[in-house]
Amino acid sequence: MGKDSPLTLSQRGPDAREEVPRRTPKRLDAAARIMYQPELLTCLHCGDLLVPWNSLAWEKTVQTLTCLLSIATRPGRCPHATCPGSRLRLRSAAAQRMAPPGSTYGSDVLVRLGWLRQHQRATSSEMHTDLSCRVPISESHVRYLSQHVYLPLLACHERQQYGRLAQVAKEQGGLIVALDGLAPQGGEPQIWFIRDLSTGLTLRRGWLAQLDQPTFEAFLAPLRHLEWPILAGLSDKQTG
Ligand SMILES: [Zn+2]
Repeated sequence: MGKDSPLTLSQRGPDAREEVPRRTPKRLDAAARIMYQPELLTCLHCGDLLVPWNSLAWEKTVQTLTCLLSIATRPGRCPHATCPGSRLRLRSAAAQRMAPPGSTYGSDVLVRLGWLRQHQRATSSEMHTDLSCRVPISESHVRYLSQHVYLPLLACHERQQYGRLAQVAKEQGGLIVALDGLAPQGGEPQIWFIRDLSTGLTLRRGWLAQLDQPTFEAFLAPLRHLEWPILAGLSDKQTG
């Protein structure tokens, strides 16, 4: 990753997502820093090129299955004060995909934990044995992640967080959604998420055994019943 400039990495988009975990943990003494820019380049309202905000949307250190990263995301906005897009903070879906809001463990760690828990029926001790050869983590922390981070990650927030989503939709004129999937093991089912890009809230998720068009159509169908318009959908390149 050292050779890539941060901008190049974020612009690579789908290719920059985490790969299927490798067996050998690669631990770095200092966190490699990645600055993410929004994937959307133009204003959704007027079509002009976005300019970066002066401040970061967030910055945190994230432990993934393969390395320690320092991740920050600089949102974009429309340069025209009279355009509704000037009030928005358009974020990077790739940055959001790296770790759930509030978690310093990467999405790949949580998805592996979830796969062990749901599909392998692993105990906390077994999950710890598996994860601790890749990331520094205690068994009590594995239990914590399982209960307080992984399970909420699975919750769909459309109803619980209705007010927050409605507020975002009002400000933006609709929702911008990000669709992405993570595979805990090659050939195993992948967990897919549809998230609101502004808040990181999960709108829908599911373990998908196949990645073909009918599967995705069924997965995406409930979005049609949302009461807010979808302004844009961002996804990593998946032919289905
Ligand atoms: Zn605009």
